[in-house]
Amino acid sequence: MTQSNQDNSITKVKQLIGGEFQYSSSDEWIEVNDPATQKVIAKVPCTTAEEMRQAIDSAKNAFKTWRNIPVPARARIMLAYQGLLKKHHDELAEILAKETGKTFEDAKGDVWRGIEVVEHAANVPSLMMGETVENVATSIDTYSYMQPLGVCVGITPFNFPAMIPLWMFPLAIACGNTFILKPSEQDPMTPMRLAELFLEAGAPPDVLQVVHGRKEQVDTLLTEPDVKAISFVGSVPVGQYIYSTGTANMKRVQAFAGAKNHMVVMPDANRQQVINNIVGASVGAAGQRCMAISVLVLVGQSSEWIDDITEALGQVHPGAWNDPEAAYGPLISPQAKQRVVKLIAQGKEEGATCLLDGSQCEVDGFPDGNWVGPTLFTNVTPEMSIYNEEVFGPVLSVINVDTLEDAIELINNHPCGNGTSLFTASGAAARKYQHEIEVGQVGINIPIPVPLPFFSFTGWKASFYGDQHAYGKQAVRFYTETKTITARWFESDIADTGINMTINL
Ligand code: NAD
Repeated sequence: MTQSNQDNSITKVKQLIGGEFQYSSSDEWIEVNDPATQKVIAKVPCTTAEEMRQAIDSAKNAFKTWRNIPVPARARIMLAYQGLLKKHHDELAEILAKETGKTFEDAKGDVWRGIEVVEHAANVPSLMMGETVENVATSIDTYSYMQPLGVCVGITPFNFPAMIPLWMFPLAIACGNTFILKPSEQDPMTPMRLAELFLEAGAPPDVLQVVHGRKEQVDTLLTEPDVKAISFVGSVPVGQYIYSTGTANMKRVQAFAGAKNHMVVMPDANRQQVINNIVGASVGAAGQRCMAISVLVLVGQSSEWIDDITEALGQVHPGAWNDPEAAYGPLISPQAKQRVVKLIAQGKEEGATCLLDGSQCEVDGFPDGNWVGPTLFTNVTPEMSIYNEEVFGPVLSVINVDTLEDAIELINNHPCGNGTSLFTASGAAARKYQHEIEVGQVGINIPIPVPLPFFSFTGWKASFYGDQHAYGKQAVRFYTETKTITARWFESDIADTGINMTINL
């Protein structure tokens, strides 16, 4: 919803431009709503063209000095930042929970996974080590440096407003770049608090800029010659647009996109572990995770476990962020809820069996929340919309297959390839699965295999456009350019410099 900036009773979200937290002069503002009540909790501006120009110019100018700050000094800022984020962990989680609807514990997890990336960024001196070979020819040495690119940009989604901005700007800035963040307009307050703490940690105020808005602001960044690299996380259509437009404008782009993650269960798997894990992996965070399990593939006799799975899923319920009994919160917006409810209806129309239907879900005391209860479909086929589309809600589709080969074929035929998991007691089955599956992140008896930041977040196929992934060594390569130097020094010049080469031991 867009409104004018006439209403002064609602918190106005600031932007960070030129080292100052300032109000936008925009006349276009977007409401930020509490997803459990629809109450407007803030409004966020669509940064004006003039303000966008100031942010870009400021980032470009800051790069001139920031790239020369010694790498250990940059690392120390990340160390201080990590400490501050830990100190403010609960406060950040509360801001995050209120604007996303996530449960407090889940919100803490969102912040924590970002803190881990900041820890990784504090290792930047060793991550930026280049390569050397002495004597590539007589008296000639070759060595390489990793140098920052300049102004980098991050465009982030609503579903992890702490973790995903923290995937991006700490590493990019630790590498010597400056950064412009355009967070999701649906939950911008968490990223703004992250930015405040970053400056408090000692970062020069103009190395990070935060602007707000939607397509118009993103388009400015995609086409701006001074922007060198773009990191994007969001849906598949927008990811494709960002990748094609950014690269057409000669920028380096990494675009992390949507997903459809399958969990395969072999009949020899630990039954109780499967039942315990599938609940949180499918409906946790209301299914609004790019690594959520949305398809359960039951192989052979494991199809007999469906009654237990239905019972376990039926026992959890959504609730407000501070309700300790709630398994998960509301969907982010009424539009998101309508989309999920429509897909549930389509699933029924297209012939799937709906064992649990959460589309009429209500939560006491919150009549206007975007609630969807746990929803379970069986007899799902690959032609159905609930299988083909990313539902992004607490909806689990079950497919029965006869063999592990059938499961692998099914998954390899799906366009997305973000994450998958296999539950089994067989090392041979696990070995076959991890080798043959065309998905970038694989869990063996782990439902949501998100790699820790010293690895990289490696989605494949339609879940990722680009080559270097987020965090780990790959992010350092993404945010730097390699310079290779081949050097020869003539011993005959030594005498001319007057340097005494005699070493007295
Ligand atoms: P989204 O694509 O709607 O928005 C993402 C960002 O792009 C936002 O900042 C938004 O303002 C901007 N944007 C939206 N439309 C745009 C347009 N037409 N042009 C330019 N910019 C535009 O995504 P979302 O709904 O915020 O997030 C949910 C999606 O993100 C899901 O599909 C989920 O799977 C995906 N996701 C993927 C990963 C991953 O690592 N692969 C991680 C988290 C979320």
